[in-house]
Amino acid sequence: MKTLEEVLVDWEAVIGLEVHAELTTLSTKMFCGCRIEFGAEPNVHTCPVCLGLPGALPVPNRDAIESIVLAGLATNCDIEKRSMFYRKNYMYPDMAKNYQITQGPVAFCMRGWLDLDVEGPGAKERFGLTGAKPGQTCDGVSVTEEGYRTRVGITRIHMEEDAGKMVHLGGEGGRIAGATRSLVDYNRAGTPLIELVTEPDLRTPEEARLFMQELARVYRAIGISDCSMEEGSLRCDGNVSIRRRGDVTLGTKTELKNVNSFKSLHDGLTYEIRRQAHVLEGGGSVVQETRHWDPAAKWTVAMRAKETADDYRLFPDPDLAPFDLSDEFIESVRSRLPELPGRKAQRFVDSYGLLARDARQLVEADGFADLFDGCMAVAGPRAAQLAKPVANLLINDVAAYLNERGADGMADASIRPAHLVELASAALAGEISSRQAREVLWVVLAEGRDPAGVIEERGLRQISDVGAIEAVVDAVLAENPGKVEAYRAGKTGLAGFFVGQCMKRMAGKGNPRVINEVLGSRLA
Ligand code: ADP
Ligand code: MG
Ligand code: ZN
Repeated sequence: MKTLEEVLVDWEAVIGLEVHAELTTLSTKMFCGCRIEFGAEPNVHTCPVCLGLPGALPVPNRDAIESIVLAGLATNCDIEKRSMFYRKNYMYPDMAKNYQITQGPVAFCMRGWLDLDVEGPGAKERFGLTGAKPGQTCDGVSVTEEGYRTRVGITRIHMEEDAGKMVHLGGEGGRIAGATRSLVDYNRAGTPLIELVTEPDLRTPEEARLFMQELARVYRAIGISDCSMEEGSLRCDGNVSIRRRGDVTLGTKTELKNVNSFKSLHDGLTYEIRRQAHVLEGGGSVVQETRHWDPAAKWTVAMRAKETADDYRLFPDPDLAPFDLSDEFIESVRSRLPELPGRKAQRFVDSYGLLARDARQLVEADGFADLFDGCMAVAGPRAAQLAKPVANLLINDVAAYLNERGADGMADASIRPAHLVELASAALAGEISSRQAREVLWVVLAEGRDPAGVIEERGLRQISDVGAIEAVVDAVLAENPGKVEAYRAGKTGLAGFFVGQCMKRMAGKGNPRVINEVLGSRLA
C-alpha cells in the first residue's frame, strides 16, 4: 500500500465524523429520575421507564435539554425551537423497550461550525499548500503563519438515550462469539447522550483529530461532559471516502468504529484512506460497510454491512409531545455560555500580545488558561510586560514539571499565580537566569514555598551590578593579554572564552547580559 502522502497526491480524502458525548455532569437520566452513577451495582438505577415496562411514561430532563442547547450555541448552531423525539426501533437486549428514543430530521441544534487551526507537522497532511503565503486562501482554507485555518460544518447535534451494557460470559475475552450466557446491566440505559454529526468537510486524519480535540475542549468549557475517549464518555465514528482530485461527487464511504483515542482516530483513518486507494487503484470498488480499527495490528477489519434508516422504522414517539422552546429559555441558556477556548486564545493575543501559538498552547493544556489569567490579575499594571515570560514559564517549565509528575500533576501541585509572577518578574529583571528560574520553580512547586525564599536560600540571586561586573571583566582581560590582542585582531570567537572566565570568577552568578555589555565596551 502507498503511504498517506503518496495517496493524497492523486486522491482527495473526505471525512465526516459522528461524535457521541455522554452528558456526564447530569445527575439523572434522560426520561426518568434514576441516578446516573458509573460503577454502581448492576441494575440498581432502574425504574419502570428505563426498563421499558408497559404503561410507563417518559418525561424529558430539562437539564439535559439545557446542555444540548448550550452545546449548540457553543458550536455556532441554529437552535430549532420545534423538534420532536422519535423511536428508533431495534431488537436487542441492551434496550428493554426495543427502541431507542432519538431525534428525527430536525434536531435541537442544526447548521453549526467550528474553526480549526492546523499547525506543525500535521498541517503537512493537507495537499497543495506548500509555497502558499500567510493570508492567502487556498483550496478553501486560509493559510496562516504556522499552517492553516479551516472551517468544519456541523450538520446537527441531536439528543438520544444510551443503551444498557451487556457482559458475555463463557466465551473468550468477554466476546459474544462462543459465550454461553449474557448478562445485562440497565444502569446506563436511558442516560442522555448528544450526537454531533459533521458535514463531510474534513480532508485529512489530522483535521479529524484536531476537530475531536477542539470539540472536547468546548464541551468541557461549557461543563456538559468530561469527554474522556478512554473511558468512553466521548466516542467517535469516522466516515471516510476518497475521490480523484478535482472530482465533486463523493466516493463510497466506510465507517470506522471503536476508536477510543485521538491517536486511534488519526491512525485508523490514515489506514482506511490508504486501503481504499489500494482497492480502487487495483480496479476494485469500496464496499459501504462498518469497519473496526485494531490498534495493535494497525489495520481495519469489516464488521458489518451498513444498515439503512429504513431498517429502524423511525417514527415520532407518541409518548413525548413536540418541543416548543421559548426565546427566554434559549436566551437564559446563552447567558450561561462561558468564554470559549478559541475566543480565550484570541483575547490572550489581543490583550497581552502573546504569540498565537503560545496562546493556543495555554488554552489547550488543562487549567493553564485559568492560571495565566490569575497571573495577569496579580501582575496588574505590569501584565503586558510580564505576559510573555509568564506564558513561557507555564508552557515550558510548569508543563515539564507536571509531565514528570504524571497525569495528576495539576491537581496536587500547588501552583500559585503570585509565585509565577514573582519568578517571571525576577527573570525579566535579570535577577535570576531563565535556567535558575526553572530550578527555583521546581522547588516552589514541589514544596509550595515562595520563590524569594528559595532564591535566597540557594544563593541564586544573579549579580547584575555593573560596577562589580566591570571589576571582574577587567581582571579577566588583564590576565589574558594575548587573547585580548587576538580578539582585537579579529578572532571574535574568543568572546565566549571571556564570558566563561567571568562566569567562573563569579561562581556562575553573573548576569550574562551585563557581562556581555561590559565586555563589548571594554573590547571595542
Ligand atoms: P449514514 O446514513 O451512512 O449514517 P450520513 O449521511 O448520516 O450517513 O452521514 C454520516 C457521516 O458521514 C456524516 O458525518 C457525513 O458528513 C459523513 N459522510 C457522508 N457521506 C460521506 C462520504 N461519501 N464520504 C465521507 N464522509 C461522508
Ligand atoms: Mg447517519
Ligand atoms: Zn429509570
